[in-house]
Amino acid sequence: ANGEQHTITRPPPTPSPLRFSKFFQPNLRILVTGGAGFIGSHLVDKLMENEKNEVIVVDNYFTGSKDNLKKWIGHPRFELIRHDVTEKLLVEVDQIYHLACPASPIFYKYNPVKTIKTNVIGTLNMLGLAKRVGARILLTSTSEVYGDPLEHPQKEEYWGNVNPIGVRSCYDEGKRVAETLMFDYHRQHGIEIRIARIFNTYGPRMNIDDGRVVSNFIAQAIRGEPLTVQSPGTQTRSFCYVSDMVDGLIRLMEGEHTGPINIGNPGEFTMMELAEAVKELIDPAVPVKIVENTPDDPRQRKPNITKAKELLGWEPKITLREGLPLMEDDFRQRLGVPKKHIN
Ligand code: NAD
Ligand code: UDP
Ligand code: UDP
Repeated sequence: ANGEQHTITRPPPTPSPLRFSKFFQPNLRILVTGGAGFIGSHLVDKLMENEKNEVIVVDNYFTGSKDNLKKWIGHPRFELIRHDVTEKLLVEVDQIYHLACPASPIFYKYNPVKTIKTNVIGTLNMLGLAKRVGARILLTSTSEVYGDPLEHPQKEEYWGNVNPIGVRSCYDEGKRVAETLMFDYHRQHGIEIRIARIFNTYGPRMNIDDGRVVSNFIAQAIRGEPLTVQSPGTQTRSFCYVSDMVDGLIRLMEGEHTGPINIGNPGEFTMMELAEAVKELIDPAVPVKIVENTPDDPRQRKPNITKAKELLGWEPKITLREGLPLMEDDFRQRLGVPKKHIN
C-alpha cells in the first residue's frame, strides 16, 4: 500500500553443516576493501594477529600498495585480490570492513567521477554482497560529512554543512550517500551495519606525497624544506594515531551499535601549532611558509567522542606528541634520511 514501509524478511543464508557443529569453530572470514591502503593495512595487521581470522583484501592499488601488506603475502590465512569495488564481487565472508576510497584531497579530486562511483556503486556492491552472504558490514565514513561545520565539536546528530557542487563534494557527498545506502539496506533488507565517522588519522605508511598536512610537514621538515601552512593557519584539525583508529574500528564491528559513531582524537590543533610541533621534533631551523589554501577548507574540526566512549568503551591513547616521532621514524626510513645524532 502507498506509503507503507516494506520490510523484507529473508531466511538466513544456508550455512555449511560444519559452521554450526558444536565441535568445529570455523575461522572468521573477513573482507577488507581498500586493505592495501594506509588505515586498511594497519587494520589487516591487527586482524591477522588473531589466529581465528582469515583475511581477504580487495584493492585496485589506486592509492594503496602491495608493499603495505608484504609481510602477509603467502600466509595461509591471507589472500590479496586486485579488484575494483565498482565491479561485482563474489566471495563468501562473515564480515566486511569497507574502506576502499581515496582519502586524500589530491587523490579524490584527481578523478572526481571515479570517486563518486567508488563511494556509491562500490558501497552498493558491498551491501549486495553482505545481503547475499549474510555478512556484517562496516563503512569507514568521514568527518567530512559534517562539511564546514556550524556546530563545534561535532556530534553524530549534527547533519552537517556541505556544499553539494564543490570540488570536495565527490568525497563528502559521496560518503553521505554511502551512509544513506547503508541505512536503507539495514532498514529494507535487515543487513547488519556499522558506520564509523573517521576524523583525521596519521601514522606510518601514509603516502609521502599525498598532500595531507601531517605527512607534508614531516616530509618537508626531514628534507629541510619550508613547512607549507595553508592560510590562514588558524584552521584546526584533531589528529588520531592509526593504532587507536584500528582499535576503534574493530570495537565498532564487534559491538552492538550501528552508529554512526565518531572515531577520532579530540586533541585540537591549529595548523600553525602543528607546524611548530613538527619543527620542534625534527628541525627547529626549518622556516614556515604561508601558502594559498584550497576551496571549501573546513575552518575547524574536532570530534565529540562521547558515544564511542559510552557505547564502545573506546578512547584514543596516543597523543600527537607521542605519535609524531613514530611517524618520523617511518618517513626517515622511506626517504633514506637518518636522524643526525648530536653527541
Ligand atoms: P588510502 O588512500 O591509503 O586507502 C584507500 C585504499 O582504497 C587504497 O589502498 C586504494 O588503492 C583503495 N581503493 C580506492 N578506490 C578503490 C576502488 N574503486 N576499488 C578498490 N580499491 C580502491 O586511504 P586511508 O587513509 O587508508 O583511508 C581509508 C578509509 O578511511 C577511506 O574510506 C577514507 O575515506 C576513510 N577515512 C580516512 C581518513 C584519514 O584521515 N586517513 C579520514 C576519514 C575517513
Ligand atoms: N553484488 C556483488 N556481490 C554479491 C551480490 C551482489 O557485488 O555477492 C552487487 C550486485 O552486482 C548488485 C549490487 O551488489 O549490483 C546490489 O545487489 P542487490 O542484490 O542488493 O541488488 P540487485 O542485484 O537486485 O540490483
Ligand atoms: N594544510 C596545510 N598545509 C599542507 C596541507 C594541508 O596547512 O601542506 C591544511 C589544510 O588547509 C587543512 C588542514 O591542513 O586546513 C588539513 O588538511 P588535510 O588535507 O590534511 O586534511 P582534510 O582537509 O581532509 O582534513
